[in-house]
Amino acid sequence: MATILDGKKTADRKLAVLREKIEDSALSPHLATVIAGTDPASLMYVRMKHKACEQVGITSVGITLPENAPTRTVVDTVLELNRDADIDGILVQLPLPAQVDSRRVIAAVHPGKDVDGFHPENLGLLFSGRPKFTPCTPTGIMALLAEYTIPVAGSRAVVVGRSIDVGRPMSALLTNADATVTVCHSKTRNLEEEIRRADILVSAIGKAHFITPAMVRPGAVVVDVGINHLDGKLVGDVDFEAVKKIASAITPVPGGVGPMTIATLMENTCRAAKERTCDRAL
Ligand code: NDP
Repeated sequence: MATILDGKKTADRKLAVLREKIEDSALSPHLATVIAGTDPASLMYVRMKHKACEQVGITSVGITLPENAPTRTVVDTVLELNRDADIDGILVQLPLPAQVDSRRVIAAVHPGKDVDGFHPENLGLLFSGRPKFTPCTPTGIMALLAEYTIPVAGSRAVVVGRSIDVGRPMSALLTNADATVTVCHSKTRNLEEEIRRADILVSAIGKAHFITPAMVRPGAVVVDVGINHLDGKLVGDVDFEAVKKIASAITPVPGGVGPMTIATLMENTCRAAKERTCDRAL
């Protein structure tokens, strides 16, 4: 039976450490979130982020824009936060409404305040092997693998999904950690065969119970990023109950990757505060 990679426990411990570090420092980190519209899932994620801020002693402010806000309004909001000397980190909750050009909004965030790690400059640094701010979900996954001393170097890793927030940066982080990485997506031929080769499998598709035991190599480490609703329950991309019987380690949903994402956001915000304080002192 697989080891359960307990993201909740690991994240809680990380948050407690961070709280102490903030208390012991002269830092008073400040995060701003920007949301457009009233999508219930997005509102819930933003609430969770503000709650984590409170838990660790980060001041946070939330800006809510109307559902019909044009790109210009969202960009102007971000530019104002860039100029605000009190703000260390800016998080724009995605997805933005369809009329908003998300790429323009992300590019407007100052790279030094880009605690989500989505700015092209930060993604470029990550892909060139010199990471600075890296996207929270894949970074949290790397921290969880480290917490359970799962060897990454030399392993064969398969990432299913190639989004800019999860799949692509995940592949870069694994590559930087010396794994041999295959990225799969909806056009991948022989998908099952590719997945079955994984020592470390990361699924970020968004399809309930897509990954079945027949697709998983016995002994593989299985990381489930997916958040899906099935019969009124929150489930991942992986058929957890069946796959845990053959995997060596597996993340649950909920309680796996999600809490690690939020803990990483808190760490990135502290880091941004620290670097901005140092910059000001020089
Ligand atoms: P996207 O929709 O942006 O990307 C999904 C990816 O999965 C795409 O690359 C797509 O391929 C691929 N895909 C879809 N269907 C298949 C298929 N049948 N076979 C192979 N590949 C497929 O989603 P995200 O990356 O943003 O998120 C993925 C999941 O992770 C979602 O459930 C989301 O809610 C969850 N998530 C969880 C987080 C957490 O903290 N736990 C954080 C972020 C996301 P193609 O590119 O070809 O279309």
